[in-house]
Amino acid sequence: MTTKRLVDQITKKLKTERGKDIKSASNKDLYYVITSVVNDVVNGDWMVTQDKYKKKKQVYYLSMEFLVGRLLESNLLNSGILERANEALLKLGFQPQQVYEQEHDAGLGNGGLGRLAACFLDSLASLKYPGHGCGIRYRYGLFEQRIIHGHQIELPDYWLKEEYPWETRKIDQAVEIHFGGNVHMHEKNDGTLEFKYENTDKVMAVPYDIPIIGYRNNIVNSLRLWSAESTEIDTDHLTSQTDHYYHQLDHKHSIEQISGFLYPDDSHFEGKTLRIKQQYFLVSASIQHIIKEYKKNNRRSLKYLPDKVVIQINDTHPSLAIPELMRILMDQERYGWDEAWKITTSVMAYTNHTTLSEALEKWPKGMIKDLLPRIYMIIDEINERFCKGIWFDYPELRDKIPALAIIADDQVHMARLAIVGSFSINGVARIHTEILKKKEMKDFYYLFPKRFNNKTNGITHRRWLLQVNPNLAKLVTDVIGPKWIQRPNDLIGLLRYTKDSSFLEKIGQVKNENKRILADFIHDRTGITIDENSIYDIQIKRLHEYKRQLLNVFHILHLYNELKDNPSLDITPRTFIFGAKAAPSYHLAKEVIKLINQVASIVNNDKDIRGKLKVVFLENYNVSLAEKLIPAADISEQISTASKEASGTGNMKMMMNGALTVGTLDGANIEIRDFVGNNNIFIFGLNADQVLDYYQNGGYIARDIYNTDDRVKRILDQLNEGAFGSQEIEYKDIYYNILYHNDPYFVLKDFDPYLEIHELVEQAYRDKNAWNAMSVTNIAHSGKFSSDRTIQEYASEIWKLKKY
Ligand SMILES: *Cc1c(COP(=O)(O)O)cnc(C)c1O
Repeated sequence: MTTKRLVDQITKKLKTERGKDIKSASNKDLYYVITSVVNDVVNGDWMVTQDKYKKKKQVYYLSMEFLVGRLLESNLLNSGILERANEALLKLGFQPQQVYEQEHDAGLGNGGLGRLAACFLDSLASLKYPGHGCGIRYRYGLFEQRIIHGHQIELPDYWLKEEYPWETRKIDQAVEIHFGGNVHMHEKNDGTLEFKYENTDKVMAVPYDIPIIGYRNNIVNSLRLWSAESTEIDTDHLTSQTDHYYHQLDHKHSIEQISGFLYPDDSHFEGKTLRIKQQYFLVSASIQHIIKEYKKNNRRSLKYLPDKVVIQINDTHPSLAIPELMRILMDQERYGWDEAWKITTSVMAYTNHTTLSEALEKWPKGMIKDLLPRIYMIIDEINERFCKGIWFDYPELRDKIPALAIIADDQVHMARLAIVGSFSINGVARIHTEILKKKEMKDFYYLFPKRFNNKTNGITHRRWLLQVNPNLAKLVTDVIGPKWIQRPNDLIGLLRYTKDSSFLEKIGQVKNENKRILADFIHDRTGITIDENSIYDIQIKRLHEYKRQLLNVFHILHLYNELKDNPSLDITPRTFIFGAKAAPSYHLAKEVIKLINQVASIVNNDKDIRGKLKVVFLENYNVSLAEKLIPAADISEQISTASKEASGTGNMKMMMNGALTVGTLDGANIEIRDFVGNNNIFIFGLNADQVLDYYQNGGYIARDIYNTDDRVKRILDQLNEGAFGSQEIEYKDIYYNILYHNDPYFVLKDFDPYLEIHELVEQAYRDKNAWNAMSVTNIAHSGKFSSDRTIQEYASEIWKLKKY
């Protein structure tokens, strides 16, 4: 399609689909029209791809979250018409970015786990793997965050208010889900048992499909999102009583609530009935769909399901897939237990995302029994057989049965169910998998050593480099050619240019240009003027104690105190940039948001500081905001308490854009360091073994540091007493958490090493040539963190999947 043809198509569609001409058209009109052009281009390929997949083995990625963000620009990029679309828009007098920004950022996820699922979809399609995402079409995505007087305020994210042009409703493929009711068991003539369900609540799951476009390869995969709707109003029981009518409306409303909103907790368990309803809804709809497809495409019995289907469950949230598949195989397909179990455990694979105890899913068994009686019976049986197996085959583990049982102390332990019911269990970075094997899941590893494996996370380099940083992408292509786009490992070729000062200068220019653009954006959004020559020091991620935004704030307060004592202190100007949402019920996290905003208002308005420090908190951190910030980062803050961050993916996005990491030896930071070497990363603080040792054996006393380090005492007293100028707010809860709960995340312990590493950062920044060389070294090694590499590993080592 030439630019001219595109212009013609756009003009025509404006008229036929929007009733506008180019003079009366808005950015929104252009957005819808271009989307429609993409859909026209893609729909044929979508049909063909799905048809070609029919006989192949397919992977289904089950996830409660898909954090896709905006799709138009990346769909244009992948379908190979981005450049011409940009030209056409400019010709018609529109700014492409303004048009693309009309799309509502689809926030159907909390953070890393949901974004990983979205990157995986991009890689599956781009590598031509037959793979589908299965999720929930929440009517409300992750809340929109506003900051008012420094406080986080949550607003509902009604992302479907205007038509979402990428989805297609497929009512003919709706399936029925049953909740509650009673199960009756009776013996049939042949001696087999039959299970009948009575008085269940019926919910209709209606699929909406979104095309996932491979990079210039004519492959289009699907993301299928299920929406909960009530089945037809029950006319049999209609009476003239109006209360009955209201009762039915009420019932309809409660059914639709199942896909009503995304729970806003990240790495935190919420034991609400509605949440388990959501989980079973996703799982039952998806498994029913998978079996229907299998039967349609294959003439063989379900015994051979594992040859054609593999199901990856993203964390334990969809782990009811295991008993649900058992249920269908036994109750509907009439398989015996052993055969059904063999099929199920050959199909299911489980990814663990965290070892945080507060994230462990444990449902009260009464709740599962009431809501999903047949599923509970099956889990109970899985548990009985598993525990018996240990008792007889592993007598050395008999003492540990209570800690291994799927049902224990009246709770259903979902991770244990996922482990027992899957043929593969993977962690998401090397250290995380090792902690699973050696500590968290030690006894399970002893039982099933072959199931455990590592798949270090990744990010799609198409969105996170090619799309968001076109100037850097072009510069890279200028020197190493375009092959890296297909084979991100080829970025390693950049290492030959780390001593080429003219190339390094160009790298610096691209970064400076990106920093200038971000400075304008920040000024527009906040009114804050930042120094384009300052170090852009960025921490963007969910707000969590373990991620230690507080340590970053302590660094800022320390620099501020130093400058107040000595205003002529010679320091390189710094701009600290934060983006972070806190779960609405997470009090301490919200206190930290308040603190960051208050520190910002004090520091930014203090004339003594002479602009040497600026602090910016950007509200509503989401994928679109990440895309604006990451290309402009000098420093990437990855400072979690060692052992707590399973992998991290923000760290990968930033290194790919030439930022240098200040980080602990945690998650994928360790693998980043192994590739770039100690000279190209700023590592500090306790390592995981030291942290785990303190947790196990004690020996850390936070108050000792408060008593001996004047810098720490000064900062903590400022928090306790509210001693910031005229502002009266105090942070007693933070103060108490550190001194009276003994600083559970080792903020004080890592404070001094953190300041030291930042002094090294400052020194390093003075030598621009050396800095840019470090930056290039990071970009050169970032290809290993493309999700293409991750997906290749899943496909060959877990899924045994062939490319189309
Ligand atoms: C990548 C990403 C994350 C994950 O960031 P971490 O630093 O790994 O926690 C969270 N939210 C958004 C919007 C992202 O794009």
